[in-house]
Amino acid sequence: MGTTLRTLIYDIGGGVPNGKKFKAIQTGGPSGGCLTEKDLDTPIDYDTLVARGSMMGSGGAIVMDEDNCMVDVAKFYMDFICDESCGKCSPCRIGTKRIYELLTEIVEGRGTLETLEELKDLAKITKNNSLCALGQTAANPISSTMANFYDEYLAHIQDKKCPAHVCKSLSKYYIDPEKCKKCSACARACPVNCISGVPGKEPYVIDQSKCIKCGTCMGTCKFGSIIHE
Ligand code: SF4
Ligand code: SF4
Ligand code: SF4
Repeated sequence: MGTTLRTLIYDIGGGVPNGKKFKAIQTGGPSGGCLTEKDLDTPIDYDTLVARGSMMGSGGAIVMDEDNCMVDVAKFYMDFICDESCGKCSPCRIGTKRIYELLTEIVEGRGTLETLEELKDLAKITKNNSLCALGQTAANPISSTMANFYDEYLAHIQDKKCPAHVCKSLSKYYIDPEKCKKCSACARACPVNCISGVPGKEPYVIDQSKCIKCGTCMGTCKFGSIIHE
């Protein structure tokens, strides 16, 4: 108690691995909230965490870096909360399920600005009308990620892009023909045989209609010719 989040992450926890940029820390378990850089000097305590939009909860903390998509993170937590809902009251039973479905629409590129409005409404309804603490705090991951990472939600909806390249429906692998050395390693590694080319003669090309976005080719290419965006 009283230790700052910064000390917890960087001194006690050893910092963010592999030189990645810190993005958020989720405290309190799945019903907690995501805190950001501006919260790092907050001393850990029940009241201070609540004042910042999160909570002590189960006492756990998960640190996320630049490679995490915050919409995907919110969906991950909502999936857990749906499982935990006992089903006794409908705001929690139906509300959490519907929030999960709306988040799925967004990560799959089917979200609209109306989806965001519906998410906000449902978060309020679930919070204010659920019987117990589970339902009352269930929308915290939505509220906090929308408050701190609204631009990521908008990128999924308006640009149809996942800035962290996590959401498969919105990401794409392609080969830069200028950099491709025509070695065929990626084509041999692809599990669905969707890369074609002629060894030593033609740059290789990915058939986007068949690509399952597994990333194997990118890990195979020694020349940095494959781009993921
Ligand atoms: S709020 Fe509590 S009582 Fe209502 S469905 Fe959720 S877990 Fe059950
Ligand atoms: S592994 Fe890289 S260099 Fe070789 S064919 Fe594939 S993209 Fe081109
Ligand atoms: S991402 Fe996977 S499926 Fe797509 S081209 Fe690369 S290896 Fe093949």
